[in-house]
Amino acid sequence: MSNQTRIGDSILEASHLLKNGELVAIPTETVYGLAANGLNSEACTEIFKVKNRPFFDPLILHIGNKDDLNALVNEIPEHYIPLINKFWPGPLTLVFNKSEIVPDIVCSGGNTVAIRMPSHPLTLKLLKSIDFPLAAPSANPFKYVSPTNPVHVKDQLNGKISYILDGGDCEVGLESTIVKSDDGILTILRVGGISVESLMEFNPNIRLSIKPQDNPIAPGQLEHHYSPHCKLEIINNTAELFDSYDAIISVIPLKLPIDMNLRHKIILLSKSGDLSEAAQNLFKELRNIDIHGYSNVGILLGPEEGLGRAINDRLTRAASSKV
Ligand code: AMP
Ligand code: MG
Repeated sequence: MSNQTRIGDSILEASHLLKNGELVAIPTETVYGLAANGLNSEACTEIFKVKNRPFFDPLILHIGNKDDLNALVNEIPEHYIPLINKFWPGPLTLVFNKSEIVPDIVCSGGNTVAIRMPSHPLTLKLLKSIDFPLAAPSANPFKYVSPTNPVHVKDQLNGKISYILDGGDCEVGLESTIVKSDDGILTILRVGGISVESLMEFNPNIRLSIKPQDNPIAPGQLEHHYSPHCKLEIINNTAELFDSYDAIISVIPLKLPIDMNLRHKIILLSKSGDLSEAAQNLFKELRNIDIHGYSNVGILLGPEEGLGRAINDRLTRAASSKV
């Protein structure tokens, strides 16, 4: 592998490298993934090494056709069918009982495998050009902020992989929502790019995992995650507090006297209060905090509805000091 990581848009080159067991960073609508042949244990082991990710944290498999599911799982729970029909391709990951061909390393030794069909057109084309699924966690060092464009990936993984497939900025900007089924009862293990409300339209009985960070089968739920290097704190909208921080991140616009707005560095995730836009900007702005060298940043969470839930979830984890 060369010392410099190249950025390009050649599906041929990406598929050639992947077929040879190498890693390639790929664009998805959620965040950039660090991809390897998901049926090749050695290639998947490399993902863990490059990310410095603990082996207990399982990988998501990405497929290019719904039919590809059949070889990877033992059965498709009936309640998944309407969700697959509605949300695939898209940011919804479903957990299945795995078939024998899925290597243990992908599932951290467990019996289940997490699978989704991404919607980014370049990655869909890539997936359709190969005959194996891609294991692809976010293309960032473990616990750091997820990348939402090729430059973010290169900043963190330069020299560690040879190629980044350039698909521009990620449209959603938040990781996928993860759902599992136990005897027909659906549980959301991780909130993400598909909102709880949208899922409920298709399954009103779906429930949110109560304390996801304690759930060992969803370690993406580790309490301290998605974190920049500076000190972050969740705060209340009490303007007196603002003086203690270098900057304030706010999901939606604040109702503040004009002089307050001028006096403080306020990083707004969406000026118009649009939660999709806030999601798109979230990881870029968390990254900017480190680039600007702020050392102490306050966070004002947004509304706990729609994509706001996943945004608040990521901000809360980024601010958590527990590991
Ligand atoms: P990421 O690192 O953002 O790609 O997220 C991968 C996450 O998917 C893991 O950290 C887990 O939370 C989740 N995941 C992967 N496989 C499984 C599985 N078999 N069961 C439950 N969650 C899983
Ligand atoms: Mg990740």
